[in-house]
Amino acid sequence: MTARILDGTKIRDQIFAELKTEIARLAAEGIRPGLAAVLVGENPASQLYVKSKIAACEQLGLMSWMHTPPAFITTDEMLRLVRDLNNDDAVDGILIQLPLPKQVDTKRVLEAVDPAKDVDGFHPVSLGHLVSGRPGLIACTPAGCMEILRRNDIAIEGANAVVLGRSDIVGKPMALLLMHANATVTICHSKTRELPDVVRRADIVVAAMGKPGYVQADWIRPGATVIDVGTNRVTDPHEAESLLRNFPARLQKFREKGAVLIGDVHPDAVNTAGALTPVPGGVGPMTITMLMSNTVKAARLRRGRSRADTVQSTAGAR
Ligand code: NAP
Repeated sequence: MTARILDGTKIRDQIFAELKTEIARLAAEGIRPGLAAVLVGENPASQLYVKSKIAACEQLGLMSWMHTPPAFITTDEMLRLVRDLNNDDAVDGILIQLPLPKQVDTKRVLEAVDPAKDVDGFHPVSLGHLVSGRPGLIACTPAGCMEILRRNDIAIEGANAVVLGRSDIVGKPMALLLMHANATVTICHSKTRELPDVVRRADIVVAAMGKPGYVQADWIRPGATVIDVGTNRVTDPHEAESLLRNFPARLQKFREKGAVLIGDVHPDAVNTAGALTPVPGGVGPMTITMLMSNTVKAARLRRGRSRADTVQSTAGAR
């Protein structure tokens, strides 16, 4: 069996098309949603992420601002910047690119963001809304995983779902979203016993551990759905040869480039799963997509607009 590939770029394009319609309707009412990104210091990976987020805003016609304080900024200065953005009515979403420098108290800064503008969904108020099943802003990566499942008609209700990882930004919100969608959810972590057996019972496996190829193909129940959140850059030739032994074209690319992106699920799982998100091109594109969706949603919620006032679609409606 070869798994159906759950293409994240295709879903991103669908959601972008829906968002464009909604953004046009908001524009007709004089509303232009805006995202303010805060990028501290000169971390090249963070610079790349923030640039792609700003580019996505431009592609959709959203307002965007980039604030680039120096790496030696203090917690108090960051708090002042966040307060200014909270008070700026043109700003609907505030994105604090992580990681922040060591001297900055990350928790205090994230908790200072107005929950109404918390488009990353990291604020305790946003998490509280999620726990209690109230409408609000949901962390982008797990929200994107749900879009992949729903838009591919993967049955969630009654399914046994296993979430590997319990981080605040992926594992926990993912488990809550699956539970609210009536799956029976098991959350696994580094202390879980008999992990292969737990995974073998799953109809849906969501892997978010940060361990390249850790979940073996024979842990996946034949026909199960695999959502692979892991994004691991492998540079060790022995590791790459072992992970990609059945994928000569990818291995050749690795030899040319010296690096390859591997998920948390072994690539061989494509031969046991019924449906699977590729890495790259599965969950990855959904994170920025849901950030855009959250920015539009925040603009709508802050102004008391309901979804029915604008456009019907699944993007950003939750
Ligand atoms: P994280 O904060 O490091 O959390 C990793 C989780 O995996 C922890 O809960 C940990 O358990 C668990 N874990 C580690 N080793 C394990 C093992 N051997 N067995 C079972 N569980 C194990 O990571 P994260 O921020 O959630 O990210 C997870 C992965 O997703 C990373 O590869 C990251 O790059 C990727 N990611 C991708 C996107 C995207 O846009 N595609 C977005 C976010 C994250 P403990 O709690 O016991 O330590």
